[in-house]
Formats: sequence, structure tokens, C-alpha cells
Amino acid sequence: MSLSKLEQLYRQVIVDHYQHPHHHGLPNEPGNFQTVIVNPSCGDELTMEWALDGDRIKGLYFDGVGCSISQASASIVTDLYKGKTIEEAKNLSIAFSQMVQGQQEGPEALGEARVLAGVKNFPARIKCATLAFKAIEQLESKRGKSV
Ligand code: ZN
Repeated sequence: MSLSKLEQLYRQVIVDHYQHPHHHGLPNEPGNFQTVIVNPSCGDELTMEWALDGDRIKGLYFDGVGCSISQASASIVTDLYKGKTIEEAKNLSIAFSQMVQGQQEGPEALGEARVLAGVKNFPARIKCATLAFKAIEQLESKRGKSV
């Protein structure tokens, strides 16, 4: 597959997630945790709702506004984190940040999130792509204070 074909495929995955986001809409379920994160430089806002079973992420949902990259990334994160422990999710988040900053190739464990690797060529969009991945940093401080 030529590089441009691959780029087209990646773009299509991003468009699909943007137009048909996964786990979109907040269940507002008692016992869940909500985190809100914004990227003022683009106007992206994400509210994420975390359903935890101990340290494991049972379910993750989001609602938000913003550019296609930020919203597609959030949709991908809700798929990626499901069933992972918080520790595993944090490690994926770190690997993702390093990938979009061009510091390393995205490991296979990032799955579909690797389609966002191309943002490394567009520094202004890196914050859009990493926004959903940064939400987990807020989760720890939210725990113990459920919805
Ligand atoms: Zn954005």
C-alpha cells in the first residue's frame, strides 16, 4: 500500500469516528466519575465519564465539542481504554504523547489510535489529538468524589 493510500485510510478512520463517535453521550450514572478537559487554543472541550471496577475501566463515555481530531481521538480512547486498568491506560497515554510528538513509533497496543500519528507533522493539532488522552491525569484526583 502506498503511503498516500495509507494516509487516506487513516483520514477515513478519523472521519468515521468524528461522524459516528463511539460511546458518545454521558450516562450520568451514580458511582461514575466525570472529568472535564479543554484545549483553549482550538476550542476543544471534552467531558468524559468513567465507570470503574476497582482499578479497571469498565466503561468510558464522552461528550464534547471541538475539531474533528479532538472528537475522533476521544471516540478512539473510549474504545482503547475499555477493560484496561488505570495504570495500563496511563501507559498508553504516555506512548500516545510520545508518538504524536515524533519521539517514537506508536506501539501496537495503541491500536486504532495509531492513525493519529500524522499529527506530528502539524504541531498546532498535537494538543487536539492528546486532549482525550490527558483526561486520565484528572481521574485520580476525582476518585473518591463520584458523580
Ligand atoms: Zn482541536
